[in-house]
Formats: sequence, C-alpha cells, structure tokens
Amino acid sequence: MTSHSRPVRTRFAPSPTGFLHIGGARTTLYNWLFARRHKGTFVLRIEDTDEVRSTTDSVTAILDSISWLGLDWDEGPVGMDGEKGPHAPYYQMKRLDIYQKYLKELEEKGFAYPCYCTKEELDEMRRLAQLEKRPPRYDGRCRNLTEGQRKDLEAAGKKSSIRFRMPDDGVTVIPDMIRGEVKFENRLLQDFVIRKTTGGPTYNFACVVDDHLMEISHVIRGDEHLSNTPSQAQIYKALGWEPPAFAHLSMIMGPDGSKLSKRHGATSVLEYRQLGYLPETMRNYLALLGWATTDSKQLFFGNELIEAFDLAGCQKSPATFDAVKLTWMNGEYIRKLALKDLMAAADPFLKAAGIPADAQPPLEKTVSLEHEKIKLLPEIPGLVDFFYREVAYSPKAMDKVLKAPGAKEVLTSLAAALANFEPFADKALEEKVRAFCVEKGLKTGQVFHPIRVACTGRTEGPTLFLMMEIMGRKRVLERLRAAAAILAA
Ligand code: GLU
Repeated sequence: MTSHSRPVRTRFAPSPTGFLHIGGARTTLYNWLFARRHKGTFVLRIEDTDEVRSTTDSVTAILDSISWLGLDWDEGPVGMDGEKGPHAPYYQMKRLDIYQKYLKELEEKGFAYPCYCTKEELDEMRRLAQLEKRPPRYDGRCRNLTEGQRKDLEAAGKKSSIRFRMPDDGVTVIPDMIRGEVKFENRLLQDFVIRKTTGGPTYNFACVVDDHLMEISHVIRGDEHLSNTPSQAQIYKALGWEPPAFAHLSMIMGPDGSKLSKRHGATSVLEYRQLGYLPETMRNYLALLGWATTDSKQLFFGNELIEAFDLAGCQKSPATFDAVKLTWMNGEYIRKLALKDLMAAADPFLKAAGIPADAQPPLEKTVSLEHEKIKLLPEIPGLVDFFYREVAYSPKAMDKVLKAPGAKEVLTSLAAALANFEPFADKALEEKVRAFCVEKGLKTGQVFHPIRVACTGRTEGPTLFLMMEIMGRKRVLERLRAAAAILAA
C-alpha cells in the first residue's frame, strides 16, 4: 500500500557534480524498487542548475553507474543526446522557461520578491547573527521595498535574486513515511532564494516545479534534504499544489561511526565495479543499508527484492557500511552465477591481466575449478594464471615442499610413471598416484604436495587431479621434470 492514491511515480534527481556515490546509489535503488514494486514509473531527472559544478562527464558517470547497477528508468535521458518520456526535457537547464512561468506566478501572488543584497551584505548579516548567537538567516530587509526603491536600485545597476517569502509564524509539518511527522517552526526558516542573481533557479524551487509537473507521487531521498523539505512544502502550498509523499532515508556511516566518506574506502559506484563486485551484489547490499524485512533476510535473488521492498521497513537510525559483509555477499552471488555469466563478468579482469579469451587450456575449465572460492572478480587471474605462464615457485613452496627430502626422486619417477599412462584424467590419475604412493611406501602428502608445487608453483590451489587433467599430460610432465631438474642443479 502507498499512502497516496495517485499512481506511483518516483524519481532520482542527481546533481551532476561528481560520481554516483554509495548514498546516491541507495537512493536510486530505493526509488527504483518502490516504483517496480508498485508497478509504477521510475523517472531520472538531471538537476544541472549549478552552472559552475555541473559537468557532462558527471552525467555520463551517473548514467553508467545506474545502468551498471541494472536499474532501468522509464523516463529521462537516453544516452547523452536523447530523452524519453512525456515530461521531457529531463535536464533542468532545458526547462528554464518553465521555472520562469512559476516564478512570475509566485511574484504576482506576493510569495516572492527581488532581493538586492550583495554577497558582502549577506556575509555581514551571517557574521552578525553568529555574533549574537542567532540562527544565520536572511533578515528580510528587501521584503518590503517599495516599487520606487526597486526601480532606483535597478537603475543603479544592482542585480537581484528572487526570494520566497516564508510565513513568519506557525509550523510546517512534513508527514514523512519513515520518520512520521517532522515539524519545523516557520520563524526559524528564512526567505530562501528561488532564483539566483545569475538568472537560474535554485534547487529548492526547480525541484518542486519538476516534481509537481512530472507527477511524482513519492519523493524518496537522503535525509540531508530533510531540512529543505519545509521550504519546498511552502512552495507547494503557495502554488496550490498537492505535495508528494516524502520519505527521508537515514544517513550511511562508515565503520567508525562518522558519515561515510573517501576515508572509509571506495565511495563511487564505478569503483566497486573495478574492485570486482557484481551489480546484483551491490543491489542486495545497498538495499539492506537502512532497510530490513521483519525476519532480517539477507540474500535476495531474482525478483525477491522487488517483492519484499517497502518503506515501512526503512529505519530512522543511521546505517553502517560494512565492506566485509559486502565482500562476503559478493562471494555468495558469484557462487550462484552460471559459469557462462561468471566468464562474462571475469572477462575484463582476465584481459587486464594479459590472459586472452582464447587461452589454452580453455578458461571456462580453469576458472570453473576455482568458482566456489572467488569473492572478488579480480582474484580470478591470480587463481588460474599458472596454467598460462611459466611456473614461479613461491619461496614457501620451494623451501617446504620441493626441498623436502625425496621430493626430487618422487618427481622424477612419477614423471616416468605418467608418461604413457591412460587415461590422463581426474579419477584415473588419482588411482594411479595413490598406487604409486603405496608402491614406494610414501605418504600421500609426500607425493601430492610436490606435484602441486611443481605444476603450479604454490602450496594451495584447485583440486589436484582435475587440475592435472586440465593442464594436460604434456605440460604436467614438463613441469614435473623441470622441478626435478632445478632440485638436481
Ligand atoms: N539534486 C539533488 C541532489 O543531488 C536532489 C535532491 C532531491 O532528491 O530532491 O542531492
């Protein structure tokens, strides 16, 4: 159930002034989940009104991040040049004449007025307020200028912004779907700027106009915006519009209890792609950053998140980002992947490590040997590279295993025993090698370990005999003999 009877329409409205970070990704996900859960519409709107800080690179990065997460939007930008949806344009800078219209309406109704204060005057106002321990807010000095005074100021070349006239008293009550009723005393709120001196709209104003015109039913966003909400609510009221339902999501903290930031590690979504997390892991993990089912279910596969998500399960208290849990979860998701999908996900990491897709033995075979163990995709090349490169013996393997008494002899006679052994396959090889141990009166470890180190250079790795089968007789024999030769030297 939703609190509003209107069709569900949610939006993510990023300001393209940087990457999509973890908090923004969670906001996107919750809006997407809520829309999908209620068979509604998910809108992507680009709030690019900050002329100085907005960049097209950021737009690209944000669209790429959301696409990588697998969160499709029904309305909004298509690539970098197109747009789809009945409310286009979805870039605020392309909607300036729309804001102009409502600005005029607010001025005509007496809800907005020009303010001629300079930056210096405003700074001084703030300084004085601080000195007198008052909240630093605009003191309203341009509220009641006469038409004549305005004309004079303009004739003197003074530039103006437009401010919204906040009520002097009373309370603005925001019904929040997560926090309940949040109350703001109007006397503590200031007449905020809705049009900058440069002519562009501010966030608080453009956001309201767009949420209204785009028929947004639910505004789900981070709680850093809660303090903007009373200002926005007053604009809805002034224009006679019904506000959407609001839901402000709790803050995300790092493990040390401070707001999640660069200090805590990767913050941008695309960094997580690079680090080898799967998009499905990210969706699952982000969903749990501030939301839970009553039974605290942790893993949601397929459509389970869409079916389970609701705002009632969102918490007020901050969520803590736990990288260890995220990595555990990635391992769970990787284990669930079909081999074909694992190979597709692994492909860029294998390529980057210089292992080509057509390498022999086939990558599907070698990677599948280690499928269960993988937690992060970049681990994959390191787990299989000994198949494709000269063996490099780790110092530990060399000292503990190869230099152990008898290892050289084991390798030499085993190479001879396997030279013509058929079939060179997992089970048969195991029987043969075990029989070899019995015949020579050796413990299995005295034989298995040297084989592993000779073939892989390491003391740990995939299941031994299947690994030998996949490596193939020729290479196994070469490596057994090469190791023996090194020990002889
Ligand atoms: N452009 C705002 C931001 O990126 C959007 C806030 C909102 O969702 O209203 O923070």
